[in-house]
Amino acid sequence: MAPAAVPVLSHWADGQKVDGKSGRFSDVTNPATGEVTASLPLASEQEAAEVIAAAKAAFPGWRDTSLARRTRILFTFRQLLDERAGELAAIITAEHGKVLSDAAGEVARGQEVVEFACGAPHLLKGSATQNASTGVDVASIRQPLGVVGIVSPFNFPAMVPMWFFPIAIAAGNTVVLKPSEKVPSAALWIAELWKEAGLPDGVFNVLNGDKTAVDALLTSPDVRSISFVGSTPIARYVYETGTAHGKRVQALGGAKNHMVVLPDADLDLAADQAVNAGFGSAGERCMAISALVAVGDVADELVARIADRTVALRTGDGTRGCDMGPLVTRAAQERVWGYIDAGQAAGATVVVDGRAGSYDADGAGFFVGPTLFDHVTPDMTIYTDEIFGPVLSVVRVDTFDEGVELVNANPYGNGTAIFTNDGGAARRFQTEIEVGMVGVNVPVPVPMAYYSFGGWKSSLFGDTHAHGTDGFHFFTRGKVVTTRWLDPSHGGINLGFPQNA
Ligand code: NAD
Repeated sequence: MAPAAVPVLSHWADGQKVDGKSGRFSDVTNPATGEVTASLPLASEQEAAEVIAAAKAAFPGWRDTSLARRTRILFTFRQLLDERAGELAAIITAEHGKVLSDAAGEVARGQEVVEFACGAPHLLKGSATQNASTGVDVASIRQPLGVVGIVSPFNFPAMVPMWFFPIAIAAGNTVVLKPSEKVPSAALWIAELWKEAGLPDGVFNVLNGDKTAVDALLTSPDVRSISFVGSTPIARYVYETGTAHGKRVQALGGAKNHMVVLPDADLDLAADQAVNAGFGSAGERCMAISALVAVGDVADELVARIADRTVALRTGDGTRGCDMGPLVTRAAQERVWGYIDAGQAAGATVVVDGRAGSYDADGAGFFVGPTLFDHVTPDMTIYTDEIFGPVLSVVRVDTFDEGVELVNANPYGNGTAIFTNDGGAARRFQTEIEVGMVGVNVPVPVPMAYYSFGGWKSSLFGDTHAHGTDGFHFFTRGKVVTTRWLDPSHGGINLGFPQNA
């Protein structure tokens, strides 16, 4: 049963809200206060099928809508989002907990994908060859897939879905978005904005739910592709199940991102960026730096400078101008506390302890303060696991080669960064490192919208990254058309394999 005192959310299909009928609900909370703020219906298989059917019905009309009209709607959507970005940021802070400026940054990075997708007419251009064989012309075109499914994580309620749907829609597909059940309101707000922008009903749909809803998308013959972002075990499951059901799948997973600091680095820059990348969004970013690899004799001074900055951070309600907000749920808070306990028990040095401290917030929010560990070794769980919280672990190594070896031995390969003033070392690093996104004196190297976002190894299943030209490739399939207009000289019957002349 949904609690009576809070609003009950809905699904969104065919251009309108659709009430949940399954009788299953989950709580949406404000992580800064710990209060339940809404009740979310979780879809049954039947409800998922109805939302997918709405997207399927809208597909032929949208596919046949001219590129000029489609991009005009995208431009309107972009304009509306620009005007009302603050509303969306406030929704993100209220359900995720990240501070408002960070939420606004997330919206801005998503907006950049909308802007990129406005270039669809150019990006969807095929190629043509005249007279490839005598009297024969050849053209390659790219066509939309049909209904595409997007399954997103809690940590970027707006940006991660926006890595995919602007491009999917621009390319002529219809979308079913299954947002994280922890942060569903951003997707519902976006659905209303699309309607205001003039998107035909059924082109953008929101299916709220849990594993039942995801499984319905993975197994429905009417869903042609899945774009998933979340933790590695679920990404692997989604990839295997989706491809077994004949779908195109891109499944982005978890991460353990290393920042390697060489002895010649600018230490103030490195300390600033370690703090920004380690504790921004309370460490709940797939590109967060969680392992700092201090090379040679840089460690003592670097740890001291990071510690000074860390103790000065203000943690609290994201609406109050703090540096860092809470974690997303009580369970996440308890999990991160558990990792800090485990790190200490394993013998790492707790330089700054996030279990203690006060927070600028009312109520019982899910706060953990920024935590800095030194002398972490690769066998400790604070090193091996993706903690997804404000915990930065310093691992000391003697040489550049040891640092590279450590990063490459890690099962994840999402992002990494090197801090140095030595161009030769940076160049070797970018060649030898087995990670999909690399920063040189840039701690969170998230690619621009017109490049593609994606990690290596256990951070991505499938071969296509998000947005950029990869995005248009993923959301379209190629067709080659070979044409001959008959003239009186055609050659008659010939059962041999066609040859060119
Ligand atoms: P999650 O894997 O728990 O959930 C992601 C989505 O999968 C949600 O929509 C959820 O409802 C659904 N889901 C959960 N369990 C499922 C199951 N058993 N079967 C089918 N679907 C299921 O991830 P999360 O906690 O929401 O997000 C945090 C994770 O996402 C972290 O591991 C983080 O690194 C990762 N992430 C990765 C990237 C990237 O680009 N690689 C970006 C953002 C987040």
